[in-house]
Amino acid sequence: MAKIIIKADDFRATSNDRWLRFALCCVEHNLPAAVGFIAGDVGGGAPADEELLCLMKQPRFDIWNHSYVHERDQYGNTDFCGPTMEEQLANIVKTQSVASELLGTAPKGFGPPYNKFDCNTLKALEKVDCFEYAFDIGYLSGLRSIPKALFAECEGPKNGRKFGLEAAINNSKKFMLRRVDFVLQIHPGNHWEEDCIRQFSHYVRYAKASGYEFGSVFDMC
Ligand SMILES: [Zn+2]
Repeated sequence: MAKIIIKADDFRATSNDRWLRFALCCVEHNLPAAVGFIAGDVGGGAPADEELLCLMKQPRFDIWNHSYVHERDQYGNTDFCGPTMEEQLANIVKTQSVASELLGTAPKGFGPPYNKFDCNTLKALEKVDCFEYAFDIGYLSGLRSIPKALFAECEGPKNGRKFGLEAAINNSKKFMLRRVDFVLQIHPGNHWEEDCIRQFSHYVRYAKASGYEFGSVFDMC
């Protein structure tokens, strides 16, 4: 059966009711999700939320490395677009270390903030052998790369980072018509209100009724 992989960005492990609601929603619907972890908050001394952390340790959640700080400057430079190879490598290593300490296992995946990377990112990734997959990184030997062309957008420019049911359904159609696996990219901790959880739950029912199941990155063809 064709699969949808949930790519949930920007998990910081600090107290956040929206992430908590999303994690509980995944439990309720028995959904796996690939969760992008930003390490700098907890790494810098902010307290981790134990209840949230406990949920995130469930095997249904695959935590991937989503940078230490997640910044973008006025020139469009980001954590992985602009900095030197050494800086990018240090960022990857620091995030791996905080995640391992917090979650008990090191992330097996990587995804740069804003889906932006440069040649230094590829060089830095070549120096580490901790990753099995990456989101939207050009080809690297031994690394499963999931291209942005397989991402279904569900957060329109008009609704910020809120989940939009109509956008999610419309943007899923091009994949569903071909019965291919695809990635649903979401930001449940940023601006999701209770209504977004309702709409997301509706989307889950729609996808299942359309003959899809929710899978992990490792199931992806
Ligand atoms: Zn992000």
